[in-house]
Amino acid sequence: MADVPIEKTRNIGIVAHIDAGKTTTTERVLYYAGKIHRMGNIDQGNTQMDWMLQEKERGITITSAATTVRWRDHCINIIDTPGHVDFTIEVERCLKVLDGTVIVLCGVGGVEPQSETVWRQADRYHIPRIAFVNKLDRIGADFYRVLKMMGETFKQIPVPVQLPIGAEEEFRGIIDLITEKAYIWHSEDLGATYEEQPIPEDRKAEVEEYRHQMVDTLTTFNESLLEKYLTGQPIVPSDLKFPLRQGTLDLRIVPVFCGSALRNKGIQRLLDGVIDYMPSPLDIPPVHGINPKTKKEETRVPDPTAPFSGLIFKLASDPHRGMLSYVRIYSGKVKPGNVVMAIPDMKRVRISKLLIMHANRQQEVESLSAGEIGAVVGLKESRTGQTLANLAHPIAFESIKFPEPVVFIAIEPKTKADENKLQSSLDTLALEDPTFRKRTDEETGQLILSGMGELHLDILLDRLQRTYKVGIRSGKPQVSYRETVTAEAVAEGRFTRQTGGRGHYAVVKLVLDHRPAGNTIIDETKKGAIPKQFIPAVEQGISDSFESGVLAGYQVINTKVKILDGDYHEVDSTDVDFKVAASMAFRDAFMAASPTFLEPFMKLEVVTPEQYLGNVLADITARNGKVMHMEPLKNYQIITAEVPLAKTFGYTTSLRSLTQGRATHSMQFKQFRPVDQETRQRLYPLFETRR
Ligand code: GDP
Repeated sequence: MADVPIEKTRNIGIVAHIDAGKTTTTERVLYYAGKIHRMGNIDQGNTQMDWMLQEKERGITITSAATTVRWRDHCINIIDTPGHVDFTIEVERCLKVLDGTVIVLCGVGGVEPQSETVWRQADRYHIPRIAFVNKLDRIGADFYRVLKMMGETFKQIPVPVQLPIGAEEEFRGIIDLITEKAYIWHSEDLGATYEEQPIPEDRKAEVEEYRHQMVDTLTTFNESLLEKYLTGQPIVPSDLKFPLRQGTLDLRIVPVFCGSALRNKGIQRLLDGVIDYMPSPLDIPPVHGINPKTKKEETRVPDPTAPFSGLIFKLASDPHRGMLSYVRIYSGKVKPGNVVMAIPDMKRVRISKLLIMHANRQQEVESLSAGEIGAVVGLKESRTGQTLANLAHPIAFESIKFPEPVVFIAIEPKTKADENKLQSSLDTLALEDPTFRKRTDEETGQLILSGMGELHLDILLDRLQRTYKVGIRSGKPQVSYRETVTAEAVAEGRFTRQTGGRGHYAVVKLVLDHRPAGNTIIDETKKGAIPKQFIPAVEQGISDSFESGVLAGYQVINTKVKILDGDYHEVDSTDVDFKVAASMAFRDAFMAASPTFLEPFMKLEVVTPEQYLGNVLADITARNGKVMHMEPLKNYQIITAEVPLAKTFGYTTSLRSLTQGRATHSMQFKQFRPVDQETRQRLYPLFETRR
């Protein structure tokens, strides 16, 4: 893509709550951008059939990790981000490599739980964003309500740059608050063209008011606009565009666009917005990493002449080319034939082919440079989160952290042939999706897959069976509980053995206590109690206990461990002895520190027609759920509730039957909370006898 200068590159993601219209919006973007690309031979009378075909073709590209389109002599790389909450981590790893994002909100649902999640993730990665309020043609759509919700929920100020013309079925176009013109889309050419008109008389006062609000917001951080405003000079579009961009990049504001992807309205202006308000790679701060040799922090700037560095953010298998490693290039340039370092493995790898996905086709390229996104073909032992760098200038960018799975399922191959295929298929799947885990249950010999939610596992099993043609039998999805302590307790682990030959001797004294989040290990031993070289073994013994659990084999979380004291033998003590002593101390202290189980709670949001409200609420209560908030919206009610994950299995099906398929819902992990008495007893019957 060397023909587009770096300042004209945009690396963006389109993220949304499921069903808000991300796929439809992306499809339209590809369609219009693709069309511009082939402007020379457009047949204006595109038929419905052509359109369907195009859509189909593009359906393939949408599943690729990154697609490149051209718009107004700029190059926009669109990084695919999945919509369902079970794949939040995928969104997260994409946010890591993109520079800006379009958040699609549903004009009816507004700020839904997952929109909040992705918004907070974007905050964490300091990602500038613009919002697209979609589905304004739908019954119940209300642009102003969505604006209000955004203002109440997020710290950035939503600044509408457009207002809708008409609502619901009558939605026809937009008023641009910057150019002060109305744009009405033609429906006969699938929204490819639109007409500029003066602002309707009856909307002028409203436009005035919103423009005034915009100027008010922008003048809080842009002095030249303030001066113009105070001295009463006329304000032209360019006076507004610069501060809008500045405020967006500084994460003070979010420009809000509107439209209907399905009805082909508003997409072109949204693309203009991407160019006008989203950062180029030059606008983002230098990326930090650690030099694996010196262990010192270094930075990389997007300079094509600097030493090469890039981050692998996704692996995907391509039917024709094998495994593709998608890379974001942070500095320098890479070409086919180059040998680079894969870090942290510190392995030399050779780059064979480089690709970009250009709208609807793959294109081999001669090089990829700083700021660009593309794929490397056939990299061996490539992994998500790996850094690739110049041999003489290695750097390790921060890898991608994956959250803990909350649901698991037991599976078995149906036949001997399936057994062989199962492992290799799971290995391939694991490369593409690092968020699921697999282990073998020692007692039953079954394979246990754990993931982020019921749907995540469902899709995994479906892919195993349909894509990889592996016959499997599976159990029911089950909740992945956690163990923790609720009080402080001290215990000593004493591992001594005197057999013939060399003996074993290690003593470790620990104190365990509750902490609100995460585990920690602190060494508070006095000098000489445990020789320094054994401390890592003690810590290993504790970490292993965190992983394996004490009560019922679930992971231990929210626990603080202090190593208080210990003893050793000059000759007999070994690392293994200290590991064993530490886990013995851990086990005893854990049992004495009022242990309990924690279970995942989900935040559930249901939008239901009024007449089913009673049914839906009763069902939530029956699932031990607690309704946190209810809000009417025309003939609908929006219910926010918190429900234990264990009670949410099969919710999709039952909500459908309760509301004749008319309600929608979404769910996301909220937090781990203590289980009730009954669950505690069920998971660990010995609690009863211990009392
Ligand atoms: P995603 O889950 O966010 O990718 O959403 P999709 O793009 O798959 O859209 C979900 C559903 O909403 C589909 O049935 C779309 O046809 C529909 N949809 C998408 N955009 C619009 C829109 O602008 N108006 C209306 N009425 N429906 C839409």
